[in-house]
Amino acid sequence: MSFLFGMMKVVSMLMSSKEAHGAWAQITLGLTLYDYRLKEGEMILQKKSHGCLIHISDFINEETGQLIIRNDDGNISEGNDARKIIFPGTNGDPWWDTKQLLEQMRTQAIPIFEHAHPDCQALFIFDQSSAHASLGPDALNAFDMNQSKGGKQRMQRNMIIPNDDTIPCIAMRGKPQSMVTDTGEAKGLEAVLTEQGFNTSGKKAKCKPVCLFENTDCCLARILSRQADFVNQISMLEESITKAGHICLFLPKFHCELNPIEMVCIFLIITNSQFLTLDHAVLGLCKIPVS
Ligand SMILES: [Zn+2]
Repeated sequence: MSFLFGMMKVVSMLMSSKEAHGAWAQITLGLTLYDYRLKEGEMILQKKSHGCLIHISDFINEETGQLIIRNDDGNISEGNDARKIIFPGTNGDPWWDTKQLLEQMRTQAIPIFEHAHPDCQALFIFDQSSAHASLGPDALNAFDMNQSKGGKQRMQRNMIIPNDDTIPCIAMRGKPQSMVTDTGEAKGLEAVLTEQGFNTSGKKAKCKPVCLFENTDCCLARILSRQADFVNQISMLEESITKAGHICLFLPKFHCELNPIEMVCIFLIITNSQFLTLDHAVLGLCKIPVS
């Protein structure tokens, strides 16, 4: 717990350099809490499909707690709480997904932050998950491309060719490049790299199963994937936050001790110890009684 706050302090210190430029950093954390409510007379240990599943997506920070706006009387009006609660299941709400998270960011978290902290910049911190890392439908991904144009490959957004000596054709350096042919089909790897001046003859499209880590030009997809626009392709979540003028960070993978949900579970264990097991705490899952 103290390590997490220590990390947050470091981030605060890093962000404080922005104050000199007129910006103020707000630490905000995203968390997801699952809990299982037990009805009167039910056994404590239930299968996941039993009981009432609640999914809470909320934002907390070290200094002010939840991302909310309080009225003068201390209450929170409708729409002034960034928390989103759903009850997913067979007969319940749809399971939480990227679309719902993006909607929460767009309609709740960002506007509430901006209202609560005018002229300030938020730092949103997320843990690693597939929903948080989801790329947009037109995201640049060289390994999603075919060797030739068309086919089942999806349309990708236009890119800017790197302006450096890694690009053989000097005239193309720094120029925008369309990823769509004149006839409206998605370009293949060969065409994109040939336009940049690469000699693609004899190169395979992709390595199978994967490229070796140290390889730089083992295949066409590897060459293209190393270019800046592909390397720096950000997730839809990060894009929605940075476009709004705020900052998005992701916690390092496989370090659950940094995840604030663990602190919430520890709190629930302490306050509801008779209902909790260690396994649930480790998984970030907690059983709490029906109040
Ligand atoms: Zn390769």
